[in-house]
Amino acid sequence: MTTAQTSQLTPAALPPSVFTLPQTAQLEALYTIIRDKTTSRGDFLFYSDRIIRLLVEEGLNHLPVVPKTIETPTGSVYEGVGFEGKICGVSILRAGEAMEAGLREVCRSVRIGKILIQRDEETAQPKLFYCKFPEDIAQRYVLLLDPMLATGGSAIKAVEILKEQGVPEERIIFINLIAAPEGLKRFCSKFPALRVITGWIDKGLNEKAFIIPGLGDFGERRYCE
Ligand code: URA
Repeated sequence: MTTAQTSQLTPAALPPSVFTLPQTAQLEALYTIIRDKTTSRGDFLFYSDRIIRLLVEEGLNHLPVVPKTIETPTGSVYEGVGFEGKICGVSILRAGEAMEAGLREVCRSVRIGKILIQRDEETAQPKLFYCKFPEDIAQRYVLLLDPMLATGGSAIKAVEILKEQGVPEERIIFINLIAAPEGLKRFCSKFPALRVITGWIDKGLNEKAFIIPGLGDFGERRYCE
């Protein structure tokens, strides 16, 4: 049996707020399928959804729980734990929308907000075009969804907007499938208390700010035949 190739950054080199999925051969096989340019759209959807589900589950592992005592059908008392606090998802449009279904599968009737950020043609900086949030977002834990963390520009802007809404950094968990080390470092140094859950850390960015080896344009792979 061969072991899975590890991420480009060793765990020791990662900022302490970054958590990767266990880099198993199974996970690498899923990534190999979605990275492959010959993979059909149907398979891309199926296998990227499998990874998204793992990422969402890992994100939920970072939420607090409180002691909870219940009685089982056998009449036994069980000292367990229950979820504490309310959550919501916030997807960074458009690619982040692809992660909403994975969140809904795990958290039934979860509230989901949206942020659209695009590059301002005049300043070349990320600019907010649209956002919609649950009215009580400041009281919730936020799972921020965007599949590809490249330069980090959009994600940084999205977090600034969430903080303006009153959400503390500590209550935001950013979930993505593939991160570039440059973007990851930039993002984490700006928001050290915010946790990042990523499936894989790649080599870097090319001159067009695509992640290498990456998987190309996530939106195109997912939505275009
Ligand atoms: N967004 C993508 O879809 N792919 C990349 O490689 C970088 C950003």
